[in-house]
Amino acid sequence: MKGYEAVIGLEIHVELKTASKIFCSSSAHFGAEPNANICPVCLGLPGVLPVLNKRVVEYGIRAALALNCEVARFSKFDRKNYYYPDLPKNYQISQYDLPLAQHGYLEIDTGNGRKRIGITRVHMEEDAGKLVHQGTVTTTPYSLVDYNRTGVPLLEIVSEPDMRSPEEARAYAEKLRSIIQFTGISDCKMEEGSLRVDANVSVRPAGSQGFGVKTEIKNVNSFRALARALAYEIERQISVLEEGGRIVQETRTWDEGKGVTLSLRSKEEAHDYRYFPEPDLPPLVISREWVEEIRRTLPELPDARRERYMKEYGLPAYDAGVLTTTREIGDYFESCVRLYPRPKTVSNWVMGELARLLNATNTEITASPVKPEQLATLLKLIDDGTISGKIAKTVFEEMFNTGKDPQAVVEEQGLVQITDAAALKAVVEKVIAANPKVVADFKQGKDKALGFLVGQVMKETRGKANPQLVNRLLKESIANSDN
Ligand code: ADP
Ligand code: MG
Repeated sequence: MKGYEAVIGLEIHVELKTASKIFCSSSAHFGAEPNANICPVCLGLPGVLPVLNKRVVEYGIRAALALNCEVARFSKFDRKNYYYPDLPKNYQISQYDLPLAQHGYLEIDTGNGRKRIGITRVHMEEDAGKLVHQGTVTTTPYSLVDYNRTGVPLLEIVSEPDMRSPEEARAYAEKLRSIIQFTGISDCKMEEGSLRVDANVSVRPAGSQGFGVKTEIKNVNSFRALARALAYEIERQISVLEEGGRIVQETRTWDEGKGVTLSLRSKEEAHDYRYFPEPDLPPLVISREWVEEIRRTLPELPDARRERYMKEYGLPAYDAGVLTTTREIGDYFESCVRLYPRPKTVSNWVMGELARLLNATNTEITASPVKPEQLATLLKLIDDGTISGKIAKTVFEEMFNTGKDPQAVVEEQGLVQITDAAALKAVVEKVIAANPKVVADFKQGKDKALGFLVGQVMKETRGKANPQLVNRLLKESIANSDN
């Protein structure tokens, strides 16, 4: 990066969760048998006309408002012409010069503070179908085509070239997903293709004003891949320039396995889409009343919730940010806090043990085997001294694996904390006898030595001893041995 600065702008497509497609009544649901959700309209058969799905416009306005955009009073649809087997009409109905909304922004957290990223436009369009290859696209002897996705509603959200690093681009994409997901208009699942990111990137000498020639990277399937692909591409562009070459404007694909971007097609081969107004759909006139009505029904969005978690629960900004990444994580956290009103403790467990096990088992938080009530009960068991904080982690893992209540796990596995001094006394004496050197160190004033002895007692009792009690008993016994 020495001497250079990256410039990044993202184009993000999100699939809307409507019941039917954008211009016909075919089902828009994902996962049906191939070509089960089709009709003459989405197949582009002659003699049929598209009819705009009102819910798509409503969802589009919702997204636009959540992204601080101005919703157009007057907007229209256009035909984007190209030939590909997944596009039965040979044109895609999209929006060109008069999009649904423009001039928005969202805020990301950078290493030093918040940064505003501009959103150029939000427009509506129809998705294309899907080609199913036998093996890879270059070696397949034939391909099958599934038109279920043809006509599924999409929003395209285009950012300003405001990002300056792969990390900022990732933060923007993740924040956009959070916001859209909070509005409830899309699942925003990158794995299932309901959120797709194309990344535009160029480099320029640090401190200069103009933009360099950009390349566009397609086929990034995760936020991690997005950051990796951009980091690679930035390095590549800098090397080309350093060697005296120049950047060719082109579309590149990210090869996840090899960790490189590869040229797909250059600007010379790029499509001329011959955009023109869609004659089969009337222009779209949107009333201010409708926009304001939708504004009133917007849910609390991630930034507002994050602020509330900091104010209402006293959480650090970091915790509040993580817990508001999705609505579901926040809801889980709040359900738990209602039953166990120590927010920071709950936050630690949700971001720590729970997140760890959910990740490891690839489980959604809504399907967590440990329900908020069960986590709250577990935390109460620590507070009332039934189990130690250390054992609680073991109990939690067992709860996660079996779905059992904490009390059941504690009883079945005999994990109740030993708080009976008489029961611990023998172990304490044994540990003191076995470690004369450490005991001597402690007497010399080495406080750390006591920690070691406590650890030994915990080990002997398989973690069940109450640590404060062990501490006290050890000190007493060592003091007594002096007399
Ligand atoms: P195109 O004409 O290739 O579609 P646009 O101007 O529509 O390009 O921009 C597409 C995306 O690329 C936007 O997100 C924009 O912010 C970004 N972008 C435009 N110019 C650059 C550049 N020089 N470097 C990086 N990103 C850019
Ligand atoms: Mg463009």
